[in-house]
Amino acid sequence: MTETRDVVLASHNPHKLGELRSLLADLPWRLHGAGELAIPEPAEPACTFVENALIKARHAAGLSGRWALADDSGIVVDALAGAPGVHSARYAGPKADAKANIDKLLKATESLEGAARSCRFVCVIVLMRAADDPSPIIAEGVWTGRLSRIPRGQGGFGYDPVFLDASSGLSAAELSPEQKHALSHRGKALAQLRARLAG
Ligand code: IMP
Repeated sequence: MTETRDVVLASHNPHKLGELRSLLADLPWRLHGAGELAIPEPAEPACTFVENALIKARHAAGLSGRWALADDSGIVVDALAGAPGVHSARYAGPKADAKANIDKLLKATESLEGAARSCRFVCVIVLMRAADDPSPIIAEGVWTGRLSRIPRGQGGFGYDPVFLDASSGLSAAELSPEQKHALSHRGKALAQLRARLAG
């Protein structure tokens, strides 16, 4: 019989936690959000997703003494030199909500046409078995699309209403959770993580 393992999800974002919980539901893991364990959010000082994910996972593993899984993600627009990128959560300011971030992004990209409106969601997932784990599992998923000119759909979170999936043309907020998981940066990163765990 497989033993159930306690794993900390090193995030305070309730939407992200919801997606991670649903994507990991079949693993023999008991998942704890960082907030439930009173683990504070660390600073995310780095300019790459992978460095920030490593910082978050190491911080949570160190404070909890458990395995820790961290997700660092965001939306990248090449025509904006990669912005909002690692600053996606706080693009419009330290206390910005999704609407303020979307408004700022739509304004910054107002003059862009055609291929210049292409963008991608990037997600790096790190699994650390201890704070000093010398070889954490690092998985990355990318979802390519293009920026809508107006928000569309009611589902998802963050930039989903303005991200148009390249294959269907639907916004990420118009997809069902299952459709989003099958296409998304987070779904792809977790598929890679599972393959590494199985290996
Ligand atoms: P983090 O907590 O610094 O990784 O912030 C990630 C931010 O990127 C979120 O707050 C969202 O603004 C954005 N983001 C990441 N993944 C998604 C997604 O699946 N849909 C929409 N926005 C996302």
